[in-house]
Amino acid sequence: MKSLSILGATGSIGSNALEIIRQFPDRFTVNALTAKTRVAALARQIVEFTPRLAAVADAEHARQLKALLPPAAEVEIVFGEAGYVEAATCPETDMVLGAMVGAAGLAPTLAAIDAGKDIALANKETLVMAGAIVMQKVADRGVKLMPVDSEHSAIFQSMAGHGRNGIREILLTASGGPFLNRPAAEFTSITPQDALQHPNWSMGSKITIDSATLMNKGLEVIEARWLFGIDFSRIKVVVHPQSIVHSMVAYQDGAVLAQMGVPDMKGAIAYGLSHPERLPLDVPSPDFAHIGQLTFEAPDRERFPCLALAYRAGEQGGTLPAVLNAANEMAVAAFLDNRLPFVGIYPIIDQTLNLHCATTGPDLGQLIEADRWARETALGLIRRQER
Ligand code: NAD
Ligand code: MG
Repeated sequence: MKSLSILGATGSIGSNALEIIRQFPDRFTVNALTAKTRVAALARQIVEFTPRLAAVADAEHARQLKALLPPAAEVEIVFGEAGYVEAATCPETDMVLGAMVGAAGLAPTLAAIDAGKDIALANKETLVMAGAIVMQKVADRGVKLMPVDSEHSAIFQSMAGHGRNGIREILLTASGGPFLNRPAAEFTSITPQDALQHPNWSMGSKITIDSATLMNKGLEVIEARWLFGIDFSRIKVVVHPQSIVHSMVAYQDGAVLAQMGVPDMKGAIAYGLSHPERLPLDVPSPDFAHIGQLTFEAPDRERFPCLALAYRAGEQGGTLPAVLNAANEMAVAAFLDNRLPFVGIYPIIDQTLNLHCATTGPDLGQLIEADRWARETALGLIRRQER
């Protein structure tokens, strides 16, 4: 029986995880659940999964949540960053599923590692921002860090039984997003509604926009750098519109191992939670004869300049990846809010990176300060182009 804390329970990853847990009540218990502001959904989850603790963004949402729960509900409600940290470090918890979106996941994830919890990590922004610190803590504390991002789960699975030494390169696959075949001239008219229509995956809004700009793949390159300790020059991106090959590892003898599956996050989430066991999931295997063709192509770095930006920030390192991530979060939020055009996302991140005086080998405080500075700077740039 594994006791779980689920951070970001009401999101796409969180609710898929609870769907798995519902199917395997003899394997998992839910000890803590967190959300930001979606208290109605969280209340329903609390009634069904009876966690000991629940955390939300602030006192007002804690009050609203309490009002939605039956009086007999035995759940402690906490809030704010301290509340999320409490949820991530409950004594009874064996494993924490990090499924919050954005840099907000960093503090609770670090606290969970410090408390000796195993981690299943979907929240890639945590590794982008502070990969060196996270991986060092994981090694020091001897906890298990399981990738939940489908590409990284695929790489992990394709590395099973092999040492890192024999790897020639990692091939991260990308669907290409909704604008894979849209001519550059039409990019100026892209609306949030257009960008939220992902061809293969149903996900939260932030990652869906990141998939449309290919920044998601850029963040994943940095995520792979830290998870697998492979240099950026040996991490390649290949566009694979069918999203069946979830990623591949090329070995020095020319062999390439891939992990395949239908585009359904339940596979990667369940594997993260139950490794080394594979659970009998309600997910079909790909029907290859029906799919017919698996195709691959190089990413178009001109229409999707965010990918090169992520490589640049990742290779230069220090505080730059944290700045990249924070500026991207601000630009994506502004785009979703109709305050920035789709083609405005890249320039905001690029200019913020250019304005940044990078620190090498930053400590946690310097990373948090770089994140704060980048948000403020990006916001200033967004406001300036609104005028
Ligand atoms: P989502 O928007 O659907 O859900 C996010 C969850 O985090 C919600 O429960 C929300 O309440 C909570 N949250 C959001 N902002 C928060 C904040 N500031 N403080 C505390 N809680 C907050 O997002 P998602 O699609 O489930 O993605 C979650 C993470 O997993 C992201 O880092 C994303 O990149 C990663 N991921 C998602 C998918 C996917 O298929 N959805 C795939 C791979 C990786
Ligand atoms: Mg992914």
